[in-house]
Amino acid sequence: MLQMLICRSCGRQLSRPVNLLEEDAPKAPTPTIEDQVPPFAEGIALIVREEPIRTVIVGDPHPLSVTPQAWMNPNDLLKTVRNSNLASRLNGCCGLDGCDGPNQLCVCGAEIGTRLSDCWTMNVFVPLQEATEWTTNGLEQ
Ligand SMILES: [Zn+2]
Repeated sequence: MLQMLICRSCGRQLSRPVNLLEEDAPKAPTPTIEDQVPPFAEGIALIVREEPIRTVIVGDPHPLSVTPQAWMNPNDLLKTVRNSNLASRLNGCCGLDGCDGPNQLCVCGAEIGTRLSDCWTMNVFVPLQEATEWTTNGLEQ
């Protein structure tokens, strides 16, 4: 079923309509775990329950360690999503490593998720559950 990610704070649309799939669904793709490569083609969001991107965390709970978490191809995000204003959230070598907390904002200023794009990470976006929601509103079913 096609759904779009929206910001809970302002209701703005954050993604194009994508096919939101559980990882064990018949049509779910097997994610490619490869540096700087999106885990799957555009048009899909995968709900991951077994192995989050960060399986071992030292210290505070980290948004990338919770399950279930959705993985998205960053190409499905709209221009309503941009980098955090906090330089401390934008660490990385060649891109964003996502290790320091949510690094993506909605244009309203709400933190809405974490982007990874570094030379040792997938190229992926993980929405923050508490700050976003999936909706079919406005989409033809
Ligand atoms: Zn917003």
